Amino acid sequence: MADQKRDYYEVLGVSRDASEDEIKKAYRKLAMKYHPDVNKDPGAEDKFKEINEAYEVLKDPEKRRQYDQFGHAGVDGQFGQGGAGFTDFGDLNDLFGSFFGGGFGGFGGSQRAQSRRPRQGNDRIMQMRIDFMDAVFGKTETISLDVDEQCDHCHGSGAESPSDVQTCPTCHGSGYVMSQQRTAFGVIQQQTVCPDCHGTGKKITRACHVCHGKGYEHKHVKLDIKIPQGIQSGQQIRIAGKGERGINGGPNGDLYIEITVRPHSVFSRQGDDIYIKVPISAIDATIGTSIQVPTVYGDVELKIPEGTQPNTKFRLKGKGVKSRRGQGDEYVEVNVEIPRKVSRKDREMYEKLRSSQNDSPFERFKKAFK
Ligand SMILES: [Zn+2]
Ligand SMILES: [Zn+2]
Repeated sequence: MADQKRDYYEVLGVSRDASEDEIKKAYRKLAMKYHPDVNKDPGAEDKFKEINEAYEVLKDPEKRRQYDQFGHAGVDGQFGQGGAGFTDFGDLNDLFGSFFGGGFGGFGGSQRAQSRRPRQGNDRIMQMRIDFMDAVFGKTETISLDVDEQCDHCHGSGAESPSDVQTCPTCHGSGYVMSQQRTAFGVIQQQTVCPDCHGTGKKITRACHVCHGKGYEHKHVKLDIKIPQGIQSGQQIRIAGKGERGINGGPNGDLYIEITVRPHSVFSRQGDDIYIKVPISAIDATIGTSIQVPTVYGDVELKIPEGTQPNTKFRLKGKGVKSRRGQGDEYVEVNVEIPRKVSRKDREMYEKLRSSQNDSPFERFKKAFK
């Protein structure tokens, strides 16, 4: 998918280090300005969607972190359908209601609206274990999944055709019926869910032949999960619309795939930097040498200078993990290995070396001790 989306911070007109409060304020201002109910300009609706999408991500610390790191790829649904998880905000009342507490409709009004309103299904979370190298370079992994998808034929309505959806004759579309009850305290008017349409306000005269009126189909699907390069254990990839089924014809929830990276036998990783320990001989450490060190990009020559001390760390610039944050380095720690056994021939050489040595560390230590 081409990445042509605008930067979310830019959309909301806030800086990258904006506080949650600043983001909320910026969103509220823009959302009220571009809400399709008040702004009839062409393009206002798209703008409104863009604002909402940006806010959906930036208001959530976890999603924001992923976005900061991976950009749109970190938070996007990775497939054509579903798009980015834009949650419909419904009407202006909701927008005000969600910020100022309580809508304008009063208690009964808002309650009634809620039960029938299409709602997004719950999110689902899945675990995925990937190899160290796949985390470094990214990969596309195919998974199989059972998901309830909106029926293609009726688009979730459950009706064979749009003309097969009629206003419920019992409640005239309100979804509720009034009943009167005589009690000792007088007549009580009561509002109950319409028994005929169960609150939907609609009646389907002919059920969809594909889903038999359910509005969704249970499908076994294969999904290509794009794992971005540089991902780390504990990070999640969001797949829009592959969560649990929506309620009252609402959109599905999202699927989150939590990544666990398997350890590597040689490399370890901290952020974008890679660490490796290599053994060298005492001779190489003493007089220096040049070694071919493994990196995730293949072997790289490293010069071990004369007099290298045990556990010295050398940096191979740019040989770490490449991610949105930048390019990490590889750190090579040398373990100087002292031979446990010495051949007779070697022993002669070492003896010779020792006899020519005119500066013993231990003698130096003793002198200073006196
Ligand atoms: Zn009804
Ligand atoms: Zn259908």
